[in-house]
This record gives sequence, structure tokens and C-alpha cells, in this order.
Amino acid sequence: MNKGVFMKISRVEIDRNLCVGSATCVVIAPDAFELDGDGISIFKKDGLTVDAETVLKAAKSCPTQAISVFDERGRRIWPE
Ligand code: SF4
Repeated sequence: MNKGVFMKISRVEIDRNLCVGSATCVVIAPDAFELDGDGISIFKKDGLTVDAETVLKAAKSCPTQAISVFDERGRRIWPE
């Protein structure tokens, strides 16, 4: 399916208890995510400048669904 993403992201959360450090999110959105000293994903300081589609793609790539994405109304759009 060819699906466009037209929305604003208001908030992104990383569940440190779910993250297994696979770094898939870092590969897809290196300007938004990086691994900390414990090998767990964290936000980069300037990550807010990354476009919504890339952040959502990174969240969807996470094997453990550790990244939650919320739209401008505060509704969680990922995981669905
Ligand atoms: S893709 Fe998921 S499990 Fe892998 S580093 Fe990112 S948040 Fe952690």
C-alpha cells in the first residue's frame, strides 16, 4: 500500500525497559536518536528538527515497539 503521512508529532517516548539496543531507529533517523552509554536509545538534542515521517518510520522499525509516537492531539499513533 502506498500511504502518505500527513500529521504533526507532538511527543515521542522511548521505553527504556523495552529497548534492546538494536539501533534500528538510529540507522533510520540518526538525527533524532542515538544510543547512550548503556546501549539504550535516547533522543538527540536537536532531534525535534527531524521530520515526522522519518520519526514514525524509525518507531515502526523498532523490533520491540519501544518508541511511542503521539500526534498533535496527544493521541498515540504508534504502536497502533
Ligand atoms: S530500534 Fe527500538 S530496540 Fe532498537 S535501539 Fe531503537 S528503541 Fe531500542
